[in-house]
Amino acid sequence: MDDEVLIAQDLKKHFVIGYESLMNRRPITVKAVDGVSFRVRRGETLGLVGESGSGKSTIAYMTVGMVQPSGGTLLFRGQDLFANGLKRALPLRKEIQIVFQDPGSSLNPRRTIQQILELPLRIHAPGKDLGQEVVRLLDLVDLPPEYMHKYPQMLSGGEKQIVAIARALATNPSLVILDEPTSALDVSVQGKIINLLIRLQREFDLTYLFITHDLSLMRNVASRVAIMYLGRICEVADAAEFFQFPQHPYTQMLLSSIPVVSEAEEAVKPKKIISTGEIPSPVNLPKGCSFHTRCPQVMDICKHVDPILVGTSAGHTARCHLFEQPVEVTAQGWPT
Ligand code: SF4
Repeated sequence: MDDEVLIAQDLKKHFVIGYESLMNRRPITVKAVDGVSFRVRRGETLGLVGESGSGKSTIAYMTVGMVQPSGGTLLFRGQDLFANGLKRALPLRKEIQIVFQDPGSSLNPRRTIQQILELPLRIHAPGKDLGQEVVRLLDLVDLPPEYMHKYPQMLSGGEKQIVAIARALATNPSLVILDEPTSALDVSVQGKIINLLIRLQREFDLTYLFITHDLSLMRNVASRVAIMYLGRICEVADAAEFFQFPQHPYTQMLLSSIPVVSEAEEAVKPKKIISTGEIPSPVNLPKGCSFHTRCPQVMDICKHVDPILVGTSAGHTARCHLFEQPVEVTAQGWPT
């Protein structure tokens, strides 16, 4: 338990997007996150992977307090982040930071890099020498001190994201949410950002929740991988096990279409799987398994009965009827 930085238990976020009609005021609801449980251990990188609309970014926004859950709990080092609604204790807020996908819109264009980096320090580290701290932060991310006088629009996309990472480190967080931190950048700078994140994690014992749609990126970055589909987790495993023995048909479909660079990776890559059906509307999810409209292994039961998350081997869980003799799982969704 001491080892677990973040625990989500049956986490839900349902958005009301309208009403059926003027007469019938029954709400139309999108279940962006619908009963998600996971744990992030200290010092690890949990890759939360899914297509657009899977609910992964909503989990990120709930974790940093931008969105309040509709149900369930989020525990940060044993403390309920929403015990007081959205107004969490300041000490907790400074421990969890986020790096957004688009550094261009997350940095204020009217402020210098110095002003941008000073802002969290003024709030969370009053009394420190701000100038010195800014130089220290720039040094941490390998940017020269003169960058403090520049404005964001004078920097490249990669440099802006590096400044966003430095800002996230300003409060000495223990958990950093990385919300697609490289997907808005050129391929040539993605590797540089990833290497920087890995180095910072080692140096500062950081824990990462890495949100991405890019499963191939997780092969060399994640300690564990969780796959999301339409608001729910459908498979979780240690990264090595995950890439060698993917179990859920959706995971196999994703893995079958990602590029590999070595013969060893090619040997364990599932054969190309073509999805047959359409992605269901999140407003009107199908009965049974929500993946059944696209699943190449669909069975009759899948159209009627919603599968539960079951343990398939140590540390490996999947939500699928194909696993006939499920290992018992706790109410939070992990094997007993
Ligand atoms: Fe496919 Fe059925 Fe498993 Fe869903 S429960 S992933 S439809 S086999």
